[in-house]
Amino acid sequence: MNVQPDLDFIKSLKEAGGDTLKKCYQCATCSVMCPLSKDGKPFPRKEMIWSQWGMKEKLVTDPDVFLCHQCGDCTANCPRGAKPGDVLSAIRAYAYTFYGWPAPLAKLASSAKGLPVLIGIPVVVIFIMWLISGAMHIPTQEEFASHGYQRFFGHWDFFWYAKNPFFIVLIMVPSLGLGLYSGFRGISKMWKSMSADAGLNKDYRPSVGQFIKEFLWPSLVEIVKHSRFRECTVNTDRVRGHLPLMLAFIGLFIVTCWSLFRLDVLALAWPSLHTPMPLTDPFKILANVSAVALLFGIAVLWNNRKKAESEQDTKPTFYDWFLIWEITAVGVTGLGAELLRWAGMPVLGYIVYFLHLVSIMMLFLYLPYTKFAHLIYRTGAYTFEKYRESGYGRS
Ligand code: SF4
Ligand code: SF4
Repeated sequence: MNVQPDLDFIKSLKEAGGDTLKKCYQCATCSVMCPLSKDGKPFPRKEMIWSQWGMKEKLVTDPDVFLCHQCGDCTANCPRGAKPGDVLSAIRAYAYTFYGWPAPLAKLASSAKGLPVLIGIPVVVIFIMWLISGAMHIPTQEEFASHGYQRFFGHWDFFWYAKNPFFIVLIMVPSLGLGLYSGFRGISKMWKSMSADAGLNKDYRPSVGQFIKEFLWPSLVEIVKHSRFRECTVNTDRVRGHLPLMLAFIGLFIVTCWSLFRLDVLALAWPSLHTPMPLTDPFKILANVSAVALLFGIAVLWNNRKKAESEQDTKPTFYDWFLIWEITAVGVTGLGAELLRWAGMPVLGYIVYFLHLVSIMMLFLYLPYTKFAHLIYRTGAYTFEKYRESGYGRS
C-alpha cells in the first residue's frame, strides 16, 4: 500500500494535544488495557499508527475514535508515554472541524485565535436585537421585582404574545437550528463513509421506526446510564463529573421546552403567565437543581483536567478548555442572574442576564464544531456499532 501522509493533519493533531504520537512503537499494550476496546475490533493501537502515517480519511471515518471516552487507561499503561487517549481526543477535535458546516465557522471554532470573533458574534447579535427591540433601559427596582428579566427586550401592548419570548425565539431558534443542521450534515456524511468502509449492504435497510427502536434508542439508554464510562479504571472521577452534567442538560432542556410552551402557547390563552415562574414552581425547582448539578459536574471535570495537566503532563488545549469555560459561563451567569433578581439588583442583573444569553447562543451556535459535538458523533458511533453488528450490517 502506498501511503501519502497528510502532514498538515499530523501537525494539527500535535497542536491539539496529540504531540506524543510519534513515540508509539506499536506494542499494543493500549489495546489490551482499553476497557472499551472489543476483541474483534481493538483500538487504539491501530489509530496510533494511522495517525503517525497521517491517514486522515481513515481516522475521521473510524467509529472507534468516537467510541473512546478519554478515560486514560491506555495512557497510564503505555510504556512509551505516547498518550493514545490524548491522540484520539485530538483526532476527534479534527473530525468536528472536518465535518463542520459552514467550513469557515467550523475552522474559526477550532482554535483560540478565533475566540474574539466567537464571542463577538453573539454579543453583537444580541446587542443589536436589544436596540431593535427598543428596550434600551434598566428597570426600576419595582419593575425588576415584578417582572424579573421578562421585559429585557421590552414590552408591547399586544395582548397575546409578549415581546421578550418573541425576541428570544428570534435569536435562539436560528442559532440552535444552524447548530443542529450542521451536526446532522456531519453525522450523515460520517455514517455514509463508515458504512462504505465497513462494506455494509446498502440495499437491505431497516425502516425508520425499526432503526430508532433497535439501534438509536438502545444507544441513548446506554449513554444516559453511562455504562461505558463506568468501565474506566484510572480516571473514575470522569463519571462523577460527566453524569451530573448530562442530567443537568436534560433537566434544562425539559425546562426550556416547558418555558417555550408556557410562553408561546399557553400564554396566548392566559396572558397572566407572562410573569416569572415562582420559586416553588416544579419547573423552577428543576431549573435550579439542574443549574447546581451543572456547576457541580463542571467543577469535577475542571479539577480532573487540571490534575491530568499537572500529574500526567497532559497538554492544555483550546478544544478541552473552551467547553469547560463555556458550560461554566452558562451555569454561573444563569444562577447569578437568578440570585441578582432575588437580591433586587437590576443593573448588575441585566448585565449578567445579557452575558447569560451570549453564553447560551454560543453553546447552540458552536455545538457541532466544539467538544460539545461528541453528543452527536459519539451517539452516531454507538448506533453505528450496534447497526454494524446486527443482521443488517452483516447481510
Ligand atoms: S500507544 Fe503506547 S501502548 Fe499503544 S501501541 Fe503505542 S507504544 Fe504501545
Ligand atoms: S482513553 Fe480509555 S477509552 Fe480511549 S482508547 Fe484509551 S483506554 Fe480506551
